[in-house]
Amino acid sequence: MGHDRRDQLTEAAQAIREAKEVVILTGAGVSAESGIPTFRDAMEGLWSRYRPEELATPEAFRRDPALVWRWYDMRRRGVVACRPNPAHEAVAHFLRERSSATLVTQNVDGLHQRALAGAWGVASGDVAELPESVRVRILTLHGDILAVRCVACDYLRPDQDPVAAESDHVLPRCPQCDQLLRPAVVWFGEMLDGPTLEAAFEAAARADICVVAGTSAVVHPAASIPEMTLRSGGRLVEVNPARTPLSGKAYWRVTGSAGEVLPTLLATG
Ligand code: NAD
Ligand code: ZN
Repeated sequence: MGHDRRDQLTEAAQAIREAKEVVILTGAGVSAESGIPTFRDAMEGLWSRYRPEELATPEAFRRDPALVWRWYDMRRRGVVACRPNPAHEAVAHFLRERSSATLVTQNVDGLHQRALAGAWGVASGDVAELPESVRVRILTLHGDILAVRCVACDYLRPDQDPVAAESDHVLPRCPQCDQLLRPAVVWFGEMLDGPTLEAAFEAAARADICVVAGTSAVVHPAASIPEMTLRSGGRLVEVNPARTPLSGKAYWRVTGSAGEVLPTLLATG
């Protein structure tokens, strides 16, 4: 750890301890140390011919649902095999200790939720069992890869099972209307859930500090969340091994991995 970085980390951690309201925005980088690839890493090997923009879209699913399901089946198996890392644990601990803190995540892997359930001692690991006052502070912008929903009706269920996708004929279908089921995630070109996004903007506008960890912060509208904090006079802390388009606007920049930095940055003691 270089001298400069330790200064930034200590100073930012102090400011977070003194802040009234903190919002934490996370992206795929926070799960990298759990072994879950970011999109860039996931598109290796078999998938190197594709870009996420060619698979994670409603058009791709209409054109070739079995192809899209094979990619999601691979990613779902990866998620099921992974565990939360110290970054998820640090965020969960922080939300437990600080009743005004809000988590906004772009991740669909459910690892924040598993760590949060753990922090509240929910044995089933299901965040639905957390008190309402906590659930409103966990904002999942892009959905849940371990859930499926119908392309046509409102059917939705949690689902961790492998999905057979050798051909269109074997794909999972809706028990209510027999249309195809799809991963319950938000695809490129789709709208985010309005109330969830609104709650995220409100939390960001109220926050004196926005912690931005493991996201390249280029995909809107998620990338506008830190802007809300800035516009209302708050400050940004960026945690990322690489520079991002947001780096120039960060008051503090901590260069490092989320699992290494967040336990210190978010220490409440
Ligand atoms: P992203 O845009 O959030 O970029 C990843 C960022 O993480 C990069 O800036 C990288 O420098 C940083 N990073 C890498 N390792 C890190 C570490 N150990 N600690 C901290 N930062 C680290 O993510 P993306 O992969 O471009 O994905 C875009 C969208 O795709 C996401 O917003 C999400 O909806 C979806 N996605 C989700 C997951 C997941 O749930 N884990 C994985 C891939 C993609
Ligand atoms: Zn249906």
